[in-house]
Amino acid sequence: MSDVPASPLAQLPVEFVGSFPDPMHALEPAAPEFAFVGRSNVGKSSLLNALVGRRALARVSSTPGKTQLLNVYRLPTFYLIDLPGYGFAQANKAARQEYRALLEALLKTRASLTGIVWLLDARHPPSADDHQFQTLLADAGTPVLAVLTKADKITRSMRAVTVTARARELGMGPAELQFVSAQTGLGIAELGESLLAAANQKGEA
Ligand code: GDP
Repeated sequence: MSDVPASPLAQLPVEFVGSFPDPMHALEPAAPEFAFVGRSNVGKSSLLNALVGRRALARVSSTPGKTQLLNVYRLPTFYLIDLPGYGFAQANKAARQEYRALLEALLKTRASLTGIVWLLDARHPPSADDHQFQTLLADAGTPVLAVLTKADKITRSMRAVTVTARARELGMGPAELQFVSAQTGLGIAELGESLLAAANQKGEA
């Protein structure tokens, strides 16, 4: 990781606030909120840990057997919200529909949500679940930062081709997608800077 800048968030204190089943659970004190979401196994936990420069974000007080929607961490100027992965193959249809409804409620009505960091696997075309989630995002109009995870699996020479392909599949511009790798640190510092800047902007607004 020596040639990659460290995440600016690694210097900051981070505190686990709690896990909450209610998509509308209000956080006190109010501060900008960034929610991380993507398919199960997309690399979300690894990315969050790399971003805050911890081996594993601390989790205290979880309620066994209950679906916890929002796993919340507080940094000095904003909250990180870790949402459960969608599209988990083992989950039954009812559970998937319930989660989709919760996500929809969260995106449409959680006014305190500043933005979504949407994780997509750089190696694969978006899945049906990804496309469904994109529809929810578009309907809700929530600002989105899309990141392509596990970028270390894409050789340097294939990166431009890959980002063009993913952008075309998603109907987005290539500049709207950023590569990240929790393994090499690629793109992690930039993502941290983007969150800090967005939080400051929001704080001043
Ligand atoms: P989550 O289910 O979305 O939280 O995904 P995890 O962070 O648990 O990662 C799922 C799998 O992908 C694990 O085997 C990780 O080691 C692997 N993984 C996560 N991030 C990266 C990455 O940046 N590069 C590579 N090569 N593998 C990764």
